[in-house]
Amino acid sequence: MFQRILVANRGEIALRIIRACREMGIETVAVFSEADRGAHYLELADEAYCIGPAQAGDSYLMINRIISAAEIGNVQAIHPGYGFLAENAHFAEVCQSCNIAFIGPPHEAMSLLGDKVNAREVATAAKVHVVPGSDGLVDDETEAMAVANRIGYPVLIKATAGGGGKGMRVARNDISLKAGLKAASAEAEKSFKNAGVYIEKFIERPRHVEVQILADNHGKVVHLWERDCSTQRRHQKLIEESPASNLPLSVRQDICKAAVRLTKAAGYSNAGTVEFLVDQDNQFYFIEVNARIQVEHPVSELVTGIDLIQEQIRLAAGEELGMTQRAVRCDGVAIEVRINAEDPDNDFRGSPGTITKLRVPGGPGIRFDSHVHEGYTIGPYYDSLIGKLIVHRNTRPEALACLRRALDEFVIEGIKTTIPLAKEIINHSAFIEGQIDTTFVERTW
Ligand code: ADP
Repeated sequence: MFQRILVANRGEIALRIIRACREMGIETVAVFSEADRGAHYLELADEAYCIGPAQAGDSYLMINRIISAAEIGNVQAIHPGYGFLAENAHFAEVCQSCNIAFIGPPHEAMSLLGDKVNAREVATAAKVHVVPGSDGLVDDETEAMAVANRIGYPVLIKATAGGGGKGMRVARNDISLKAGLKAASAEAEKSFKNAGVYIEKFIERPRHVEVQILADNHGKVVHLWERDCSTQRRHQKLIEESPASNLPLSVRQDICKAAVRLTKAAGYSNAGTVEFLVDQDNQFYFIEVNARIQVEHPVSELVTGIDLIQEQIRLAAGEELGMTQRAVRCDGVAIEVRINAEDPDNDFRGSPGTITKLRVPGGPGIRFDSHVHEGYTIGPYYDSLIGKLIVHRNTRPEALACLRRALDEFVIEGIKTTIPLAKEIINHSAFIEGQIDTTFVERTW
């Protein structure tokens, strides 16, 4: 087992990883930008090194500085968290060539699945349904129109290198297809330096259901059941839960089995997430693999009782998976609310500032993963997630009651947050009944 791990991230996920390591008796080396200097969570690491100025491009994304910190800190492994370098196959390869274990999948599997067109091919070969669409990239308007007319409008144009909802355009006819193709391709080139786009049938009012996977380096793969992440705004998840409500057990089992098949076919190991859309008839279609730990991993931890970060570390150290599929339980209901420093009254713009008062909820069934505290200043440099409130109860009504109480107890002053919107969502009849899809929030608010 590793004695020392470098945490190549910041904020709540850096703290989450430091905590997991501490419980395993592993020392941690944290890195920070000048903007994060003095953050309290850094005190919980055994060492911490500054790796550059506030801009992520000059610090958290600088591979050479992170590797230097790893060498100075004398670590055997790096945990990338999510975001930043977590899905950068080149970084994973650099770690390997420096003899530092990368806590994540092999770089080959990461580059294979990081390209969505390739991932669709892997899925098809593993007999997993993909959303009907183009065979590979579409090169020009004529080809795009032929595909769209074959599968039928509306269609979605998507970037093969896409992420974070960028490079996506809906088209409802030939005219909007032509315009959307140019726009999606230009956005993809700008965001990912890869203009390649493909076409999928646009599924009306789908649910977003994803499967948590754990895979070891010895060919064993298990799933940790699914999460429903349909409560989204502009393709950004707001609330996630496990298990997915109102989804028949047989469909849940089929989705999870499909995710395991795909993982095996891709030669994937460590933790990962296979994402699907589920249509109104409960047909499910693969959309993509996230080759990393995800923000919403705690809901799976609570229903299964498995610590995903600790598992990631064990798997990266070459250990065999210690559990059988039958032993992975799914107990009760867990729901996570992301708390962002954003202003719902001002188009969800970031709301930087200092937290002047903070009262965090507690008591039975509540977990709060966050690096912030009273007096903490949220700067303008990084994403706006300041914490995740997660509840776990025996039934969904009990989990909702617990969440309602927790959100009512919450006090954050000095900045604007998404808590008021979360309260409205969880008190809406459609949400209470579990009648939600990815368009619910935008249709209702
Ligand atoms: P990204 O990697 O940019 O997050 P995804 O492929 O994961 O892109 O899709 C993000 C979200 O976009 C999904 O959760 C869903 O809400 C929506 N979406 C993606 N593909 C489709 C589709 N074919 N039809 C309808 N909605 C879709």
